[in-house]
Amino acid sequence: STFDSLNLDPRLLQALAKSGYSEPTAVQARVIPLAQEGKNVLAKSKTGSGKTAAYVLPCIQSILLSKSHESKTKNTSVLVLVPTRELSDQVTRVFASLSESCGKEVRALNLTQKVSESALTAKLNETPDVIVSTPGKVAQLLASSTLSLSSIQKLVIDEADLVLSYGYEDDIEKISKAIPSGVQTFLISATLTPEVDQLRNTFAQGYTVVDI
Ligand code: AMP
Repeated sequence: STFDSLNLDPRLLQALAKSGYSEPTAVQARVIPLAQEGKNVLAKSKTGSGKTAAYVLPCIQSILLSKSHESKTKNTSVLVLVPTRELSDQVTRVFASLSESCGKEVRALNLTQKVSESALTAKLNETPDVIVSTPGKVAQLLASSTLSLSSIQKLVIDEADLVLSYGYEDDIEKISKAIPSGVQTFLISATLTPEVDQLRNTFAQGYTVVDI
C-alpha cells in the first residue's frame, strides 16, 4: 500500500516524500483511516513502529481541513500528552517536519521547552494549533490560568503506559476536567496495562483497538 490511498492532503504527501517515507507502516495503515472516520483509537504499538506519524498525520490533516472551512478562526485543537520532556521535543519536531509543506498554517508548541514563563505565555498567546507536553506542565499552566483547553478537539496520549507510571494521575484528572467532553482520543501504548484501561475510560467511551 502507499500513502496515496489514505486520503491525505497533497501537502502531507509532499512532506512524506521529502522525509523518504514511501509507504505507511502497519500501524499507520490502520490508524490513519480510523482517525479520519472520527474513531477513538487504542493502539498497542512500540517505538520504531512509526506510531508518531500515525497520529501526527491525521491531526495535521484535520487542522488543514478546519482552516480551509473557517479561515479566520484560530484555536488550539490538538493536545498531545507524553511522559517525558525528551519525547515532547521529538513529537513537536515530527509535527514541524510533516507540516513543512503547509507554510505557517500548522504550528506545534512544546510546553516543556526550557524558556521563561513569560516567553512561554507569549508563544501561547499566538494560539498554536497543537500543544505537546507532559501532563505535569499542562496541569501547572491550567492552575495558573495561563492555558485553556476549551477548544481541544483531539487528544493523544503517547506512551500511555509510561504516562501513568510516571505518577501523573492527579494531573491527568485535572486535564480531563479542563477538556471538552467528546474529544476524539488516541491512546498509544506499548503494553495494555490496567492503568491504560483506566485512562481509556477517563477521556472517551468506545475505542477501536489496533494491535499489531
Ligand atoms: P516512531 O515509532 O514513531 O518512533 O518512528 C520510528 C522511526 O520510523 C522514525 O525514525 C520515523 O522517522 C520512521 N518512520 C515513520 N514512519 C515511516 C514510514 N512510513 N516509512 C519510513 N520510516 C518511517
